[in-house]
Amino acid sequence: MGKLIGKTYATPAPAAVAPAAAVQPPAVFACPHCGKEYKTEKGLADHIAKEHADAPAPDGE
Ligand SMILES: [Zn+2]
Repeated sequence: MGKLIGKTYATPAPAAVAPAAAVQPPAVFACPHCGKEYKTEKGLADHIAKEHADAPAPDGE
């Protein structure tokens, strides 16, 4: 951290400095078997365990 230069530096508009992560959609976990989407990996895992207990993993060839 060096000296601050130009204390009068204009503050950017809040919208211009919003972190990209704030505008990204939340991660979605989609069921590889039926495409149903879940907000959590656990929700998806529970769904697969219940609904696709017999189904082989799609990429487990
Ligand atoms: Zn499914």
